[in-house]
Amino acid sequence: MARCPECAGKMKYNPDNRLMVCGSCGLSLSRYELDHYWSNIRDERGSDADEVTKAKNRRKEWLDWYSKSKDEKKNY
Ligand SMILES: [Zn+2]
Repeated sequence: MARCPECAGKMKYNPDNRLMVCGSCGLSLSRYELDHYWSNIRDERGSDADEVTKAKNRRKEWLDWYSKSKDEKKNY
């Protein structure tokens, strides 16, 4: 299922005008435009995707440490 680049709503193919139409915000794009749109977004976000992953990992590490230290405190 294609996703709307504007609102992430579900896009349905409309065979009448051969456009993908968003069920949520009504945005209509051709299949080609939609593919292009997403590849542009991926390119833009590609550079900082690593940063997001790193931040998530940092947070996870912190949470692991936090829950561990809490468990340790309980043992005292
Ligand atoms: Zn939409």
